[in-house]
Amino acid sequence: LLEVKNVKKSFDDLEVLKDISLEVSEGQVVSILGPSGSGKSTLLRCMSMLETVDGGTLTYCGKTAVKDAKYATKSELKEIKSYFSLVFQSFNLFPHYSVMKNICDAPIHVMKRDKEEVAKSAEVLLKKMGLDSKADYYPYQLSGGQQQRVAIARALNMKPKMLFFDEPTSALDPELTAEILKVLKELAEEKMTMVIVTHEIAFARSISDHVVFMDGGVIVEQGAPADVIDNPSNDRTRAFLKKLE
Ligand code: ATP
Ligand code: MG
Repeated sequence: LLEVKNVKKSFDDLEVLKDISLEVSEGQVVSILGPSGSGKSTLLRCMSMLETVDGGTLTYCGKTAVKDAKYATKSELKEIKSYFSLVFQSFNLFPHYSVMKNICDAPIHVMKRDKEEVAKSAEVLLKKMGLDSKADYYPYQLSGGQQQRVAIARALNMKPKMLFFDEPTSALDPELTAEILKVLKELAEEKMTMVIVTHEIAFARSISDHVVFMDGGVIVEQGAPADVIDNPSNDRTRAFLKKLE
């Protein structure tokens, strides 16, 4: 579903991603772990095309978005961008929009989908997220966990083929974190394809089909959670996991 091949990214003199390659198959959950500054968010931002890459290939559902720093045409990119949505650490809801409007705005105005169909699916998603009574609330009237569930509902209402998460729980206290992890677990059970940057190691072990460990802009190690988390072969992975114990 997603192929990242030899991706490189620098900010001025700083090489943040050095030759990153990974693959995500349909229905897979891939977790990205690694110390602060290792390039996890940058990788996710490049995968979401919020950041341009300097080299390498990004392919989504067999469609090449960028090859050797050459991007596809505007209309091709528009199509490809509809395949995924990104959920941020800090929710990034529109503060002046109600919950309902947050969830429906992009599908209606960007994707030009039918208003009623979009509102219907928003209602289903709100119910699923346990937020059916909050449709007319504004973000400031919600807890962090509720805001993040709205953000997930918003991402899902774009009907993406895959979801990307950048530390979806790191702005939340433990109780609200558990709430969000439960939502992610349910999505995984429904075979939603997901790439999740997280520091929640136990969660990553339980939910992931594939774990990627990054350090210093490279993928140091990747594989099944039983290998990468429980039995890492690399010293840097071991040192990182030891610190979190
Ligand atoms: P964390 O776990 O703290 O979120 P991370 O693994 O997500 O860390 P990144 O945010 O990808 O790390 O940052 C990797 C490196 O790239 C850092 O040294 C950071 O300062 C640098 N960096 C990221 N974005 C930019 C930018 N827009 N301009 C310049 N440097 C940047
Ligand atoms: Mg980050």
